[in-house]
Amino acid sequence: MSNILNKVLLIYTGGTIGMDINPDTNALEPLDFNHLFEHMPEFHYLKTDIEVRQFSTPIDSSDMSPLIWAQLVNIIATEYANYDGFIILHGTDTMAYTASALSFMLENLTKPVILTGSQLPIGQLRTDGKENLLTSIELASAHHADGTPMVPEVCIYFSGHLLRGNRSTKQNADGFDAFDSFNYPHLCDAGVNFDFHDHNILTPDYSRPMIPHTQMDSRSIVFSLFPGLQEDIVRHVLGSPQLRSIIMRTFGSGNAPQDLWLMKILTEASERGVIIVNISQCVSGRVEMARYDAGFQLKNAGIISGYDSTVEAAVTKLMYLQARYSDATTIRSLMNQSIAGEISLP
Ligand code: ASP
Repeated sequence: MSNILNKVLLIYTGGTIGMDINPDTNALEPLDFNHLFEHMPEFHYLKTDIEVRQFSTPIDSSDMSPLIWAQLVNIIATEYANYDGFIILHGTDTMAYTASALSFMLENLTKPVILTGSQLPIGQLRTDGKENLLTSIELASAHHADGTPMVPEVCIYFSGHLLRGNRSTKQNADGFDAFDSFNYPHLCDAGVNFDFHDHNILTPDYSRPMIPHTQMDSRSIVFSLFPGLQEDIVRHVLGSPQLRSIIMRTFGSGNAPQDLWLMKILTEASERGVIIVNISQCVSGRVEMARYDAGFQLKNAGIISGYDSTVEAAVTKLMYLQARYSDATTIRSLMNQSIAGEISLP
């Protein structure tokens, strides 16, 4: 790792890190970046050159949307040549969706884009925000001796761990270890020293440009199975003519009840071009539809495997592919490939 002075763009979208208590409601609400800055005198001591961009109205990340993802992509694309890395301050609730979406929207990314935030506001004594932000800045500016970045991908940094963005899931609503990537090893562990796991980090093609994509098509639904599903309700929801894809959260290694009515609804949807992706309800492990008969039936109904994908990666990958391609065959085939390190194929 060399000590070149790097330039990082910090994009502040909102989230707990910059929130404070509203005395009228006693609830946390997002404040502008100056509030955050006042609590971070450490900024002045950093070796990295930091510039800040903030959204006109900082948001709770529950209000995140594909339009804001497009704004983030536009900022990164416009400023791409001017910075060595990008940090996005973001609420934790939808951070894994944003990280997944950006990993597809920023094709052939050659610079770090690190999302971080905190569980306690930066103004509170026990805040985790300072460590998360300061370490993210160091990670975004970390370079190999030849000048190439240590982590040229979209990542989430939280509580000592740098994770691949499209492998991450929010696992804890209270603890400081808010994220983990259950099906992929960490990219770096930050203790006294940084322990980069180079063999887990993507290697982009530095001779090709980064290609930004801003269109997303969200005509999808996440449908979680449970014992006792009602036929008329499932038919109503999955029969929607606008629907282009269903992310079906199945049991264990990709199994579903073998009710004939369910297979019929799924087969009909698949035949009319709806893409149905099988994702396990387990946070760890992969879908293997051929392992049990209860999964094999799904394969026969035209459902494709989501392998070891997170729900967040499957949803945002479909949104990205649906915006780029109109035919289901192409989308199904690309769902069977890793396009930004989001799945491990068997
Ligand atoms: N509700 C907050 C948000 O996602 C939680 C957080 O920042 O951790 O914006």
